[in-house]
Amino acid sequence: MIIDDDPDVHSATTFALGSLEIQHRPLSFLHAYSAAEARDILQHETDIAIILLDVVMEQEDAGLQLVSHIRKTLGLSDVRIILRTGQPGYAPEIDAIRDYDINDYKTKSELTRTKLYTAVTSAIRSYEQICAISASRRGLEMIIHASTELMALQGLQNFAVGVLTQISGLLGLHCDGFVCARQAIHDTQVADSELYIIAATNAYTSVLNQPLRALDQASVADIVQRSLQKRHSIYEAEATALYFSNVAQRDFTLYLNTGLHLNEMDKRLLGVFCGNVSVGLDNVMLTSRLHNYAFYDPLTGLANRLKLLQTLNEVLASSLKSHSALSLIDIDHFAETNDALGHQFGDLLLCSVAQRLQNHFGKTCQIARVGSDTFALLGDEKMVRPEEILTLFNSPFDVDQQEVQLSSTIGLIKLDEYDSDGSEALKDTNIALKRAKTNQRGGYEYFTRNMGVEIRERVLLMHALRAAFEHEKLFLVYQPQIDMRSGRVLGAEALLRWKTDEGKFIPPDQFIPIAEYSGLIVEIGEWVLRTACLELVHLRSLGYTDFQMAINVSQAQFSHPLFMQTLNKALEDTQAPPNFIELEITESMAMKDPDLLIKTLYQIKQLGISISIDDFGTGFSSLSHLQKLDVDKLKIDRAFVNAIQKNSSEGSIAKMIVQLGQSLGLSIIAEGVESEMQANTLLSYDCHLAQGYLYAKPLTREDLQVWMGQQTLLS
Ligand code: C2E
Ligand code: CA
Ligand code: CA
Repeated sequence: MIIDDDPDVHSATTFALGSLEIQHRPLSFLHAYSAAEARDILQHETDIAIILLDVVMEQEDAGLQLVSHIRKTLGLSDVRIILRTGQPGYAPEIDAIRDYDINDYKTKSELTRTKLYTAVTSAIRSYEQICAISASRRGLEMIIHASTELMALQGLQNFAVGVLTQISGLLGLHCDGFVCARQAIHDTQVADSELYIIAATNAYTSVLNQPLRALDQASVADIVQRSLQKRHSIYEAEATALYFSNVAQRDFTLYLNTGLHLNEMDKRLLGVFCGNVSVGLDNVMLTSRLHNYAFYDPLTGLANRLKLLQTLNEVLASSLKSHSALSLIDIDHFAETNDALGHQFGDLLLCSVAQRLQNHFGKTCQIARVGSDTFALLGDEKMVRPEEILTLFNSPFDVDQQEVQLSSTIGLIKLDEYDSDGSEALKDTNIALKRAKTNQRGGYEYFTRNMGVEIRERVLLMHALRAAFEHEKLFLVYQPQIDMRSGRVLGAEALLRWKTDEGKFIPPDQFIPIAEYSGLIVEIGEWVLRTACLELVHLRSLGYTDFQMAINVSQAQFSHPLFMQTLNKALEDTQAPPNFIELEITESMAMKDPDLLIKTLYQIKQLGISISIDDFGTGFSSLSHLQKLDVDKLKIDRAFVNAIQKNSSEGSIAKMIVQLGQSLGLSIIAEGVESEMQANTLLSYDCHLAQGYLYAKPLTREDLQVWMGQQTLLS
């Protein structure tokens, strides 16, 4: 730009420089004949390399004022300025030269053609350098900005989209492009998995999320493949493939249809950008790996429990809920298979089950592996149906060239009326599954509200029971047993009591099954045994030397391998006489493992302890079976004694039991005797022994002592 009020200077300059090429490019000129005109031009023309400026124009300092305007007001810092003046005396202050970044100061007479040429050439060079520097500074600023933006993106796909957007911004081009990467669930499988287009702009959006081979452009696929093979970026005439190295060596490449040759500057910037992106990529891959570990099962590649819960919560919060169902699928006898055929085989088996579920339900449902041999299926209730699932197990599974026939048990829940969160729904489905397992392997069960309430209460009770036992809050009461003919006291049955801190009694019918279920009964039972023995010894010391102590023993206790040892130890430690101890076992127990029972009973009897069958008549025992068992006494269940009162036909069951017992040479005791009528009826059946409220309720040890005292006085 030539600014001079002397038109001759304009023509002289264009004449001097006009035919020249600088840096292989011709010069083009702008002309202004006054400072004011120059201001006008500069208003919209900002891409000027050099201004040849006359110092003295309208005013003596018009030139310098214009410089100030250019640098300060317009903020044009790149343009080079060469001051020219007709008179040597008008040289500006050295300060002005520095402050306004003036390249050169020459008197017009100094500027010969050659000198002018040299001055302009060097000014243009420095202009280009300055431009390059500020462009790269802007570029770097953008890269830093882009990198921070990218860091905030979660997941490889988001990241890829981010890279693509940022790069268009960086180059100032709206070009077509895409990012492709290898996609696989398993880290181990990434290397040989396929390349997918995970982000795309403009022309390429149609192939988004498809394999690279879906793209029908050989040249594009070619440059991408070359960049991946060489592991570096390739710049070609109209296209660029940027390679992003990363620690995991996961292939990740960006294709850009630039439509023109990128200049050196752009390439350098892209290099820096790629470096930055690579760092970001490492981060993204690390976090997505952590994400995978957190949400996917490494063995089968299915979602894990956590992921299922996420989806489940989403479903419960959406309208999908009204027709969705969740099911848990448990492989029957998996533990045995695993033990018998080895863990490796077991793993393969699980994978092939996962695969079959995936093939059948993968498109419509969320499948997860939530336990070692438990899978979950979440989806529309039209799909998540037991029939639909069970048929998958009809044909054998191919494992390691073997055919394995499996069956499964299923628990289900319908989510439509469900108002708790996902983890509750999963728990409840598990409850249904447990119920299905106890009922029948290979079957299924839908969750009902009752199941949940019941089980949750039981779990709470179990914790409370354990605590109560540990804090010695359990105690025994003793219910006397008498001979109805003489009124003589035979002994008592020890019965367990639990009084909570709030003073509430929990009935044994409630907590004993829980103690049995949780295995706690083994410890509690041992304590009962020892306490009752001690009480027996205590009563004997008071002179009640023919007093018999009846102690309840439950199935879990009885079949425990250390039961005999525990019993012996209790006798030894308490010095209780075995002849005055009776163990009450239930009839149903006699059915479970006859051989073990016979053996244990024999050992017990050898000690001198006697055995009675509790609740007799309720457990459908076979009589032939009963004959084989060496027991001493039958206890008629309270239900049959109760029936006597009602005078119904059931009353005769008590009579039958008495007759049966007599025929087997066993003594008979009736429990739950509440009225004189019942007592008399039983006596008429020839049953003399009784226990019941008519005679005494279960008594604390102190009350028992008082009661015993009264009895001796009576007799
Ligand atoms: P069970 O062995 O059949 O005990 C007899 C139950 O009948 C006791 O209930 C007793 O209080 C109750 N009973 C006695 N006479 C009458 C009566 O005239 N009328 C009525 N309505 N009931 C009467 P409890 O103490 O609630 O015990 C319930 C069950 O808990 C026992 O049935 C027994 O199976 C189990 N149990 C209690 N203590 C122990 C224990 O120490 N160990 C084990 N394994 N089970 C125990
Ligand atoms: Ca009993
Ligand atoms: Ca009973």
